[in-house]
Amino acid sequence: RIVHLNGEWLPEAEAKVSIFDRGFLMGDGVYEVTSVLGGKLIDFEGHCRRLDRSLKELGMGNPHTDDEWLAIHREILNRNNIGDGLIYLQVTRGNPGDRDFAYPNPPVPQTVVLFTQSKPGIDKTPLADSGLKVISLPELRWHRRDIKTVQLLYPSMCKMAAKAAGADDAWFVEDGKVTEGTSNNAWIVKGGKIITRQLSNDLLHGITRASVIRFAKEAQMEIEERAFTIEEAQAADEAFITSAGVFVMPVVEIDGATIGDGTPGKVARRLRELYLDETRKVAL
Ligand code: PLP
Repeated sequence: RIVHLNGEWLPEAEAKVSIFDRGFLMGDGVYEVTSVLGGKLIDFEGHCRRLDRSLKELGMGNPHTDDEWLAIHREILNRNNIGDGLIYLQVTRGNPGDRDFAYPNPPVPQTVVLFTQSKPGIDKTPLADSGLKVISLPELRWHRRDIKTVQLLYPSMCKMAAKAAGADDAWFVEDGKVTEGTSNNAWIVKGGKIITRQLSNDLLHGITRASVIRFAKEAQMEIEERAFTIEEAQAADEAFITSAGVFVMPVVEIDGATIGDGTPGKVARRLRELYLDETRKVAL
């Protein structure tokens, strides 16, 4: 792969970052993942806006304008011949040359990294026809989950716990209610209503989530933004997750309980189609 590091294009083996980089030592950085279909960027403006917000919330500037980010994203696709896949982008507070809890003052140049992951046919994965199994685990992350930081240890632990339990992923539960998945937003469908947790600092403001809500409303489907319990999810007609990596992905089992008839539900399948059709039309 050809990767991007601070304005340079390098073979991945030659892209090196300092051991003093605050992303490495402190988890002091933010990231975005944008999906690519047919060589075009899906929901790119949303990811740009959230990147800007994450940086601001951590007192960091944005090293590029939206137009510059777009040009970099397009160039990395071209350089790597990506048709379908993902672009990972990370910005850390950079390398102060030593370890210190305090931010460098004056600030040092940020470290900007982008790389691609080629995933041909990412929109046609058979997983969407079988659905996922999830387990619930306690929510033990910090309380600023609205910032997309690179601090992903607990979600990684939970992904491993899910796999060890024979499941695909985990949903976090706090005060009896589901916050979100390890790397996705959680949804249920009951009596025709599409339910997902309202936005707050308790969860990431998913870009896919926002688009799905918009497309569902445009299609006259009913959306309810509120928290729900695992028991309510288990008794729902359908469940699904959303993220840039999986778009809309049905969930067919929660903590061993079968959802609906154990196959992907109608609403989830319709929303997946809607999301893919509508975002493709305006992809950059
Ligand atoms: N929630 C968490 C914790 C995530 O890590 C992600 C994506 O990585 C999402 C939700 C979904 O966000 P998006 O739809 O913007 O990919």
